[in-house]
Amino acid sequence: TAYLSDRVLHMQESATIAMAKKSRELAAKGVDVVNLSFGEPDFQTPQYIKDAAKQALDEGFTFYTPVPGYLDLRQAICDKFQRDNNLSYKPTEIVVSTGAKQSLTNAVLALVNPGDEVIIFSPYWVSYAAIVELADGVPVPIMGSLDNDYKVTAAEFAAAITPRTKLVMYSSPCNPTGAVFSRAELSAIADVLAQHPHIFALADEIYEYINFTGEHVSLAQFAAVKDQVITVNGFSKGYAMTGWRLGYMAARQDIAAACDKLQGQITSGTCSIAQRAGLAALKGGRASADEMVAAYHRRRDLVLELAKDIPGLKTPTPDGAFYIFPDVSAFFGRTAPDGSTINDSSDLALYLLNDAHVASVSGDSFGAPDCIRFSTAAADEKLRVAFERIKVSLAKLS
Ligand code: PLP
Repeated sequence: TAYLSDRVLHMQESATIAMAKKSRELAAKGVDVVNLSFGEPDFQTPQYIKDAAKQALDEGFTFYTPVPGYLDLRQAICDKFQRDNNLSYKPTEIVVSTGAKQSLTNAVLALVNPGDEVIIFSPYWVSYAAIVELADGVPVPIMGSLDNDYKVTAAEFAAAITPRTKLVMYSSPCNPTGAVFSRAELSAIADVLAQHPHIFALADEIYEYINFTGEHVSLAQFAAVKDQVITVNGFSKGYAMTGWRLGYMAARQDIAAACDKLQGQITSGTCSIAQRAGLAALKGGRASADEMVAAYHRRRDLVLELAKDIPGLKTPTPDGAFYIFPDVSAFFGRTAPDGSTINDSSDLALYLLNDAHVASVSGDSFGAPDCIRFSTAAADEKLRVAFERIKVSLAKLS
C-alpha cells in the first residue's frame, strides 16, 4: 500500500462504519446481532417526501443542478432558518451539499490552512478530527467533564485558544453524548468568540429536531458573532433521510461562495431528485419529525431505565439525539471468560459484539476512551433484548 497517499494512509477508518461492517459480517454467519452501532433513524422516510422524489423523476429533474442547490430549495432553507431559528439568511448564503458531512468538509477546507488549530469540543462526532486532518489542520480536542454532561464550558473554550486557532467545532444536540447546550451556555461561548473575531465556529445542528428539552439554540442567534458562525444542518436525522445524502450550511456570503467554488470542483452539487424531495420535506414542516422524536424520547427513557440496572455503567441523561454514552471504565482491567483482558473501550465493544451479540461503538473514536456509544434508534423490543444481554455479558467479567 506504499503507493497510497499519506493523506489516506494516515486517515482513520470511520469507527461507526467499521463496527457496522463487523456486525453485518457476524449477522451474515447467522448470528442474531442487535446492531446499536448505527447513527441512523430506524424509520422510513415519510411518504410525502418519497412521493415528491417520484414526482421529480416524472417531471424530468434529471439534469445537473446549480452547484449550491436549486434556488427554491435554498429559499425554503432560508424560510426554515427564519421559522425555526429566528435567523435571517439569503439564498446566496446557503450551500446545499451531499449530506451534512460534506457541508462540514467544505467549511473546514474553505477556512483551514496547514497548521491552523481547530478546537473540537469532545466527545465529538467521529469524522471531525479526520476532516480537520484532511485539511492539514491540527485538531485540538477539549474534553467536557462528566459532571457537566460532557459539555465544554466557555472558560474551557477560552483557555484552549491560541494565536493559531482558526475554528471551533461542536454538535448540539451532541453525537455521541446527546448533550444539548442551553441558551446561557451558548451565550457565554458566543461572548468568548466575540473577543476573537478571527476565529470561526462550525455549529453542527443536524440533530436539531431530536431534542427533548423543548428549546434548540443556534450559536448564530447571538448577533455579535453571527458572521463568525457557519451553521450546518440537514435532512438525515430529522426527516429520516440518511440515504438521500442531503445537507446544507448557512454562512456569510464569502464563506458560502468559497464552499460553492470547492464543491463545483468536487461534486457539482448533490442529487437533483434528493433536492426536490428535500424541498417537499421542508414545506411539510416538522410534524413528521415530531412523531419520530416522541419515539426517540420514549426509548431514551427505556434505555436509561435498563442501563440503571447494570452495575458499572455511569450514564448521563441525554437531552437529544438518539444515543447513550455511558462511562465503562469500571470494566477496564477485568478478565473475560476466555481469559482475555478488557483493557479499553475497544476491547469492551468487541467483547459485547462477540459475547452479547450487541454492536456498539467504542468511545476512543469520539475522543472519549472511557466511554462506549449505544444507539437508541431501534425498536423497543430490540433495546430490551440488547440491554438484557449486555447485562449478562458484563456480569461475566471478573
Ligand atoms: N454531524 C453529526 C454530528 C452526525 O452524527 C452526522 C451523522 O451521523 C452527520 C453530521 C452527517 O450527516 P449527513 O448524513 O447529513 O452527512
